[in-house]
Amino acid sequence: MSGASRRDFLKEAAFAPLLFAGSRGGTRTGRREGGGPSSDLPSYVALHKSGELGLRARALKELYRNCSLCPRDCRVDRTRGQLGKCRGSATVKISNAFAHFGEESPLVGTRGSGTIFFSNCGLRCLYCQNADISLEGHGREIPDERLAAVMLGLQGIGCHNINLVTPTHYLPGIVAALDLAAAGGLSIPLVYNTGGYEKAEIIRRLDGIVDIYMPDFKYWDPAEAARYSAEAFNYPHYAREAHREMHRQVGALRVDDNGLATRGLLIRHLVLPGRVAGTRDVFQFIARELSRDSYVNVMRQYRPEHEAPRYPAINRRITAAEFAEAMGWAREAGLRRFAR
Ligand code: SF4
Repeated sequence: MSGASRRDFLKEAAFAPLLFAGSRGGTRTGRREGGGPSSDLPSYVALHKSGELGLRARALKELYRNCSLCPRDCRVDRTRGQLGKCRGSATVKISNAFAHFGEESPLVGTRGSGTIFFSNCGLRCLYCQNADISLEGHGREIPDERLAAVMLGLQGIGCHNINLVTPTHYLPGIVAALDLAAAGGLSIPLVYNTGGYEKAEIIRRLDGIVDIYMPDFKYWDPAEAARYSAEAFNYPHYAREAHREMHRQVGALRVDDNGLATRGLLIRHLVLPGRVAGTRDVFQFIARELSRDSYVNVMRQYRPEHEAPRYPAINRRITAAEFAEAMGWAREAGLRRFAR
């Protein structure tokens, strides 16, 4: 592909849906053109070659029959059409997939993060800025083979990683698709981009599969979690356990010579108005129980979306003073690596 036409193709891919990745171009096999480190393949590649990845996918699929994939523990049989709190069926549903240039710089690099947005969500924050996707479930159901083609398509256009946004309720299909994609040559790091409401026992099943965990740590106070995220009073407990397990597997974020993330934990914390998120305690936990070298994105972009205007405490943006206070707490805790 010539320089000009390649630029046009990448530009188009940055803005256009990639649901038809398999037929829109890119390399025929989707094999990597420089995305990610060539000498340090993601460990899911070895798991695929040994057959372990396929075994794990099949074991995970069994969980759909009595779903306990996330802390909601609905125990519904999704293979028979029963729906739990997340409203997801046993077929993966995605809303969009494209080269994303708005994520953290170690993921974006020069060619973007290959982001796949999954429909529906088990956490259901009432202020969600993607409510049409996560709460209303907009999107399209696709078979595992199609999802594998989307992954390869993202690699084919040069993305540096596969960034799975809100993946847990479709984890069995995603791992099955990853196995197929690895057979087709997928070899860029896998990013697990989650709201942090995770069971450690499910995260343990991803040991050796996920290269980069990117969880939110949303709340410290169970009452605030329950108030704003559909009665998820147990969020802080599960988030702490999940962060510990993610850190055990991959450690603090590591980047290569080009500043691209290769492996590790990248934690996001959205500062909410009026200290609702428990920011100080969250940072103390990260520094004390994970690592002071944890890579943290302290996010200031909260806006009162969706149902938030009905809740006075969160019906405003944060002030500059609140963000400065949050950064002060991060430094007070001993944290020193922040996303810019
Ligand atoms: S993934 Fe969905 S159905 Fe399964 S436990 Fe979580 S919310 Fe319930």
